[in-house]
Amino acid sequence: MRISPYIIEALSELGQVKESEPLMHYTTYRTGGPADAIVFPWNNGCVPKVVRIAAEYGLPLMVIGGGSNLLVGDKGITGIVMRLCEDDSRRADISVLEDGYVYADAIASKQSFLDFAVSAGFGGAEFMAGIPGCLGGGIIMNAGTSEGMFVDILKDVDIVDYAGDERTQVIDKAMTSYRTMNIGSGNIITGARFRLARGYDITDMRRRIDEILADRRKKHPLDFPSAGSVFKNPEGYSSWKLIDEAGLKGTRIGGACVSDLHTNFIINADNATSQDIKNLVDLVRETVYKKFGITLETEVKMIGTF
Ligand SMILES: Cc1cc2nc3c(=O)[nH]c(=O)nc-3n(C[C@H](O)[C@H](O)[C@H](O)COP(=O)(O)OP(=O)(O)OC[C@H]3O[C@@H](n4cnc5c(N)ncnc54)[C@H](O)[C@@H]3O)c2cc1C
Repeated sequence: MRISPYIIEALSELGQVKESEPLMHYTTYRTGGPADAIVFPWNNGCVPKVVRIAAEYGLPLMVIGGGSNLLVGDKGITGIVMRLCEDDSRRADISVLEDGYVYADAIASKQSFLDFAVSAGFGGAEFMAGIPGCLGGGIIMNAGTSEGMFVDILKDVDIVDYAGDERTQVIDKAMTSYRTMNIGSGNIITGARFRLARGYDITDMRRRIDEILADRRKKHPLDFPSAGSVFKNPEGYSSWKLIDEAGLKGTRIGGACVSDLHTNFIINADNATSQDIKNLVDLVRETVYKKFGITLETEVKMIGTF
């Protein structure tokens, strides 16, 4: 769908805009078809204005961060995609507030946030080591590991709702479920305040982070594009084990492959399309169900048209 030049012009006042832009450039899978328009807002103040333009003209609006938990259909996304992730032209604000909380824009990469926290002697964010993407996506996914997750350190988040209204939402544990933060559908996070512990030993933290990264390099197929673990762990089970025991290790469809190293990773081994990856996701789910009677639910979000 071609978005009217008038709307493109209005969006261009709020950020850089690219039309018919392939989303493969913005996903860690390196797959995904074009967005009718993708906008990179200049700053947080532009986000509600983009939302209002989409609402006013009845255009679907999808927010993405680092694209590290996304499988975007090869036929792309209709409407406007808003990318909230820092890049060479937009740096995130991360700062210590007077009350001792740490503020960060949602576009901050987890890596920048962790670097900031560690250099300032704040502990508690080390679990983010090696998790790609930005803070907004991490918060919505309540991303984490056995070392910790976003909800453990979040005080509150700044939200823009589907009407373009802004508010601050206090976060508590009851708002989370497995890899989900329930802040209300359609809400966009623009910033957050974090509760981090002061006075941590910087050298100890750096050592711990190095250990985490070394462990991840050993266990994860980081030489290939992926979106991390594809399936959530069903209650009482590990998805990688179910997939392994179903004999699916190394199974390929087109350029997509179940990783030999970590069977809950489906990697883009050789110019895969999103359809290859989706077909393999479906095959894995079907095979595991036939063998164990357990339905695997995807952690990776599938968006757009396949
Ligand atoms: C190699 C690898 C390892 C990984 N390891 C882990 C891990 O250990 N633990 C883990 O939890 N995850 C892991 N992941 C998955 C992924 O990195 C995390 O879920 C990450 O937090 C997603 O952030 P993102 O910015 O890339 O979000 P995206 O993938 O861009 O988006 C994810 C979801 O968040 C929404 N979203 C993004 N930004 C915003 C915003 N500002 N406001 C509202 N909604 C928003 C999107 O609409 C989408 O629904 C891994 C991925 C890879 C590729």
